[in-house]
Amino acid sequence: MFENKVCVVTGAGSGIGQATAIEFAERGAKLAILDRDQEGLKATSTMLAGKDRDTLSLTVDVNQASKVEAAFTRIDETFGRIDFVVANAGISGSPEDGLTADMPLETWHKIIGVNLNGAFYTAKFGLKQMLNSGDGGVIVFISSIMGQISNPGISPYVASKHAVVGLSKTIAAEYGAQNIRSLAVAPGFIETPMTDIITQDEAILGGVLAMTPMARTGKAQEVASFIATLCSEDASFVSGGYYPVDGGYLAT
Ligand code: NAP
Repeated sequence: MFENKVCVVTGAGSGIGQATAIEFAERGAKLAILDRDQEGLKATSTMLAGKDRDTLSLTVDVNQASKVEAAFTRIDETFGRIDFVVANAGISGSPEDGLTADMPLETWHKIIGVNLNGAFYTAKFGLKQMLNSGDGGVIVFISSIMGQISNPGISPYVASKHAVVGLSKTIAAEYGAQNIRSLAVAPGFIETPMTDIITQDEAILGGVLAMTPMARTGKAQEVASFIATLCSEDASFVSGGYYPVDGGYLAT
């Protein structure tokens, strides 16, 4: 399905990003995987090697614009095109950071730096190359259910996840005529290292499940397959929207 297509995934060394890289490889794409975690990237590369797909693995902090730009130059030199960009790298907040009046400035800048600035740099340099190729493409931002609702104590995370929805809508409006689609995917509670703190605490997990109509957490693979479907021709007229993958959480 994705033969001769090139997919860039940030945060591909773990969780949803790793599952997404594998899903695209299984559908035939070549992969550029980016993460700041070298060990995670190695693990993903090993999994991709089994899929026999061309893979470029780059250790990059998405919050450093010049490094992200250099990574996209390498991707262009290696593959000569980019079809899909999944801006997935992210970090969470912790309720222990405090309510907004007490939020340390350092925490605010750290989370906004990765989740919003990093997503912006990834989209910006990815778009440049999609525009150069003239073949269109798809940008997918990994937002969150926190891109639509709030959660006291994690204001920078909530703000960043709302912000990428606005960025995605704007890109959809700016580049639709060039056949570039932009989408925001909003995972609910998905089992990854990021949510260990929830899934390993029975009381917190019970609270989450009680608010989730499907009464379970999701798997990274369930997000990955939805992202791939949105990037496919099956979704060729889908752009600008916000798409929860949350077991019904936002419906309640
Ligand atoms: P994860 O397992 O922690 O994976 C995130 C990956 O991104 C990690 O390998 C992480 O490396 C990397 N990363 C973090 N900061 C980076 C940076 N500055 N530059 C490059 N890579 C960086 O988390 P996940 O659950 O898969 O989350 C993926 C995305 O989904 C995030 O944007 C998250 O906000 C979103 N999301 C997740 C859930 C959920 O329930 N899991 C729900 C809603 C939204 P380190 O290990 O070094 O930090």
